[in-house]
Amino acid sequence: MTVTPSSVLGHVFGYDTFRGQQRAIIDAVVAGKDALVLMPTGGGKSLCYQVPALVRPGVAVVISPLIALMQDQVDGLRQLGVRAAFLNSSLAADSQAQIEGELQAGQIDLLYLAPERLLQARNLQLLSQLQIALFAIDEAHCVSQWGHDFRQDYLQLENLQQHFPGIPRIALTATADERTRQEIIDRLQLWHAEVFLDGFDRPNIYYAIAAKNNARQQLLAFLEGHRNEAGIVYCMSRRKVEETAAWLQQQGWDALPYHAGLDPSLRAGYQDRFLREDAVIMVATIAFGMGIDKPDVRFVAHLDLPKSIEAYYQETGRAGRDGLAADAWMVYGLQDVVRLQQMQANSPGSEQHKRLEKHKLDALLGMCEVISCRRQVLLRYFGEAAPEPCGNCDTCLLPPRSWDATEAAQKLLSCVYRTGQRFGVGHVVDVLLGHDTEKIRRFGHDQLSTYGIGPELTGPQWRSLVRQLVVRGVLRVDMEGFSALQLTEASRPLLRSEVQLLLREEQERGKRRSSKLAQPRLEPGDMPLWQALRDCRKRLAEQQGVPPYVIFHDASLRDMLRLRPRNRQELLQVSGVGDSKLEKYGDQFLAVIARVDADSVDWG
Ligand code: ADP
Ligand code: ZN
Repeated sequence: MTVTPSSVLGHVFGYDTFRGQQRAIIDAVVAGKDALVLMPTGGGKSLCYQVPALVRPGVAVVISPLIALMQDQVDGLRQLGVRAAFLNSSLAADSQAQIEGELQAGQIDLLYLAPERLLQARNLQLLSQLQIALFAIDEAHCVSQWGHDFRQDYLQLENLQQHFPGIPRIALTATADERTRQEIIDRLQLWHAEVFLDGFDRPNIYYAIAAKNNARQQLLAFLEGHRNEAGIVYCMSRRKVEETAAWLQQQGWDALPYHAGLDPSLRAGYQDRFLREDAVIMVATIAFGMGIDKPDVRFVAHLDLPKSIEAYYQETGRAGRDGLAADAWMVYGLQDVVRLQQMQANSPGSEQHKRLEKHKLDALLGMCEVISCRRQVLLRYFGEAAPEPCGNCDTCLLPPRSWDATEAAQKLLSCVYRTGQRFGVGHVVDVLLGHDTEKIRRFGHDQLSTYGIGPELTGPQWRSLVRQLVVRGVLRVDMEGFSALQLTEASRPLLRSEVQLLLREEQERGKRRSSKLAQPRLEPGDMPLWQALRDCRKRLAEQQGVPPYVIFHDASLRDMLRLRPRNRQELLQVSGVGDSKLEKYGDQFLAVIARVDADSVDWG
């Protein structure tokens, strides 16, 4: 049988169609051309070099900076019956010798290599004896000094072309701003490469952002929708990570802390549990994430604002790599806004740098406060056209109403002014609401004309108004002066009614409406089979010491649930079931399906 991209896709990977530009990319590489591939996380980059690796004669060499992931990647490929191996510094000398032997005997189709090893004399010597199918350079943005992940070792890849002329090279990355892209092309000498740009959109991620009022209760309510699922909760500080993890544990959630200050072996153990178990919640600082390739992270929650849209996009991007529905959820409040503004003002560097930081922060806050589609804001930020509202974010599904806040803002600003611009938000709101506090009496603020003029809004609504005015620069918070609220230049036109202020109405968000893009939630009637399939997968994974998703992705189990295959032929229709997995696990999963279905018939 001749080996073609389509036959490899079906027999080896168990998929029936190529996604997006995969086919075109694969055809280019199979034909011996160079390619540069920019595709969002979860877009299916791996297949773009794995399929040509099996179609072209010889061994494909994959350069990857993520040594920790090589083992999993190779395990995953071996499950598919692919002859894959890796060489990196974690290997013992005898394993290394064995792999070298297999390479020389032509028994390996895919070889993962760390970049620093590639051009070592011994390795060059080895590779020069082999027929090489292609070079794949994963995480290609690591070659860019402009990008955020620059790695010195990647610079060596500049010489790949000279050492191995005529061998096709495919560079892949999910980071794709114009400047990084150009640098990748220059450094890797990919001037003749076909460029495949796939945009930034992650259509399966649902974006939701809400005002913080009681963050912990809000988090709990959110987590209810994610029972028995894996996710990440990002917090700003190590202390908050530890406190939040401990508190979630008390509430009965399987939560673990992760930050750079933890003992390394403890940290590695936690990470391992997150990867290998089905439903662990990682509460983490941004130290956690790089190189986390777990496909079934179902949510990423932010209890604190990240510092830019780039950071938000990257962190939320860890959800839903398998293409199934996932949630990006965030709450934020006045404190977050003030903290970030403070950091930006104090950031070291030139005026120009500060301006850039301020621009980034404003863009992030703008996305938080926006009344229209969040995804449009995200995509436009990355320079991508997004003509239609997405239908899969909170503002699309529960359009917030806007209200004319001009008069309320005038009351607030006058109150700030009348109290001398020396008090924080709590006191100002107390005055507006006409509360009777010791502080108000002491300063005689019950005598002010603004005392008690704001009963039309509640305390939280006044606070939210303060936050929105701070975001817009109409108010500022003086960090040196006990967080006192102060007027700015931008207050004046508002006070004089020269401008109208339309704001987003904070509403208690009811139950989230489901989006047409997300696959349906599991029906209660599906639960026994779903659980049984996951148990079966877990048992097999434990026997082999691999993460469950290496056996089957959730998408495959979902498909089994939907199709209820009764025999091997029908099982082959399930996405992700190819020849090798059918042989290895088919009968066991078929038995589980038959058993659970029989049980439910008995009871029905
Ligand atoms: P990336 O490296 O771009 O983040 P992956 O290569 O890990 O993405 O692929 C993401 C997910 O999509 C994986 O679960 C993969 O198995 C799946 N996938 C990729 N291509 C296809 C396809 N053509 N059909 C079905 N699933 C696919
Ligand atoms: Zn939207």
